[in-house]
Amino acid sequence: MTRLFNFSAGPAMLPAAVIESAQQEMLDWHGSGMSTMEMSHRGKEYMSIAGKAEQDLRDVMDIPNNYKVLFVQGGASMQFAAIPLNLLGDKTSADYINTGMWSKKAIAEAKRFCTVNIAADTSEGGFTSAPSQGELKLNPDAAFVHYTPNETIGGVEFDYIPETGDVPLIADMSSTILSRPVDVSKFGMIYAGAQKNIGPAGLCIVIIREDLLGKAAAQTPTLLNYETHATNGSMYNTPPTYSWYMAGLVFAWIKEQGGLKAMGEINGRKAAKLYAAIDNSGFYANPVAKHHRSWMNVPFTLADADLDAAFLKGASEQGLITLKGHRSVGGMRASIYNAMPEEGVDALVAFMQSFEKNQA
Ligand SMILES: *Cc1c(COP(=O)(O)O)cnc(C)c1O
Repeated sequence: MTRLFNFSAGPAMLPAAVIESAQQEMLDWHGSGMSTMEMSHRGKEYMSIAGKAEQDLRDVMDIPNNYKVLFVQGGASMQFAAIPLNLLGDKTSADYINTGMWSKKAIAEAKRFCTVNIAADTSEGGFTSAPSQGELKLNPDAAFVHYTPNETIGGVEFDYIPETGDVPLIADMSSTILSRPVDVSKFGMIYAGAQKNIGPAGLCIVIIREDLLGKAAAQTPTLLNYETHATNGSMYNTPPTYSWYMAGLVFAWIKEQGGLKAMGEINGRKAAKLYAAIDNSGFYANPVAKHHRSWMNVPFTLADADLDAAFLKGASEQGLITLKGHRSVGGMRASIYNAMPEEGVDALVAFMQSFEKNQA
């Protein structure tokens, strides 16, 4: 059996220890005589799994008590519609910061429901930086401010949390959640699709301040209303039980690693090594402003795009897979989420150096 270093942007690697735990309890979870997939979501075994997962996430992220944690379906993309439906209240407009492909999708969906004020837009620079606080044109009468702290495709990450006064700040943290400590109290709502840094696809986590619940538009579908999930412990209907269980194993694993502080130290080191390898070469390049470079998604190009195929082939022979960049950006992209071991980044750096040398 060989586990490769998989640099996929998502679904992405899971910690090997987590998959092994799941394997061990696959046929018979803790003497219940069932796999977790076969359990009633309302039975006491599954309720204990679900409850522990939520508590571990609360511990790991230090989530204040006045926030609800919801385990929902439909991915992060479903929230693009749910957010305006739930949060506009009696307002008619919302502020959106446009820093890349995922912001654009959130904006396009929001336009179906409200007036969108673009508070900042970095498209002119080819989405290679985040706007500064001073550049944000915020409307004090907006229902909320939405942004994407880490743009998964462009590899652009905010190095600060926007200050929005009394207007709730909403963050699509799909590709950066759990990568380092974050002050949840600065946000009205945080959401993240699971398949990058949480667990298997099929689950989306919503962390929402309680005072934002209960003002969904009248036509909001029951299942898109956060209130529905908040008042039913995310069990109004059958939740994605297996993904929720696996996410719980990941949260417990993060605790064992020393929590988000430890994850942040490892992730900072991994990213620094990879960017240093890019910057110290005359062959690889990353276009993102240095202090806005993502810790999780590192796009880079080769000096000659005709060598891309040879690079990918050589990398995969070393067990380094899924490095092809997003079709909109080209080149390569290495996604190095929590589950990518530091040795994986070391192996990638070593391969990049030898590939460059072979071109000389
Ligand atoms: C992957 C991703 C999404 C989409 O997630 P789905 O779960 O596929 O809907 C949205 N936003 C960001 C920032 C992402 O990285």
